[in-house]
Amino acid sequence: MRGCEHIDQSKEIAPRTPNGCEECLEVGDSWVHLRLRRSCGHVGCCDQSKNKHATKHIHATQHPVIESFQPGEDWLWCYVDEIFVE
Ligand SMILES: [Zn+2]
Ligand SMILES: [Zn+2]
Ligand SMILES: [Zn+2]
Repeated sequence: MRGCEHIDQSKEIAPRTPNGCEECLEVGDSWVHLRLRRSCGHVGCCDQSKNKHATKHIHATQHPVIESFQPGEDWLWCYVDEIFVE
């Protein structure tokens, strides 16, 4: 299996906004699921949420690795290599 150096090098990080999506909280919007960005701690909403802030964040900052920020979910995803790790 082909590895992903982004995930290999990423570490657990404390969320900047543990209460929800950073951008949605600012404007008072809602979300469906949350994703935590490794390397900067950004919390963004998933692609089922109307604002899709987790995906928009990669375009702005090139931070490729997210993990689920949902209770009971434990996985990582790299946007660059499109590799899903459970
Ligand atoms: Zn990668
Ligand atoms: Zn959002
Ligand atoms: Zn970031």
